[in-house]
Amino acid sequence: MSGEPQDDCLFCKIVAGHVPATIVRETDTTVAFRDINPQAPTHVLVIPKTHYKDAATLATAEPALAADVLREAKAVADEDKLESYRIVFNTGAGAGQTVFHAHAHVLGGRGMQWPPG
Ligand code: 5GP
Ligand code: ZN
Repeated sequence: MSGEPQDDCLFCKIVAGHVPATIVRETDTTVAFRDINPQAPTHVLVIPKTHYKDAATLATAEPALAADVLREAKAVADEDKLESYRIVFNTGAGAGQTVFHAHAHVLGGRGMQWPPG
């Protein structure tokens, strides 16, 4: 929850410029940067600049901002000339979420299997 920057949040620190990241796109409301441990040739994280713990909390509090994140995910895919790509919102530790600041993973540039692991 909140929308306020969290002192202990890695992605709030990236937004503030206190932790370096390879930023590929930035808008008034979002930042997109390369994942430090890429799982595909394109692996970019798109985050809202304001802090919400997960995608659903973001969408409930600020639906227009959630839409900004999705639009930026497509813009990232377009910049990397991806015809197909996957957008993932891990939600909860059991699903693999490790950073509790809402983020879209944009993955592409290789074949993808379904169902995911
Ligand atoms: P989650 O597991 O929460 O869905 O995704 C968090 C992602 O953040 C992981 O894919 C992880 O590799 C990435 N990550 C963790 N620490 C850093 C960092 O300091 N910089 C960047 N660019 N990515 C990070
Ligand atoms: Zn945060």
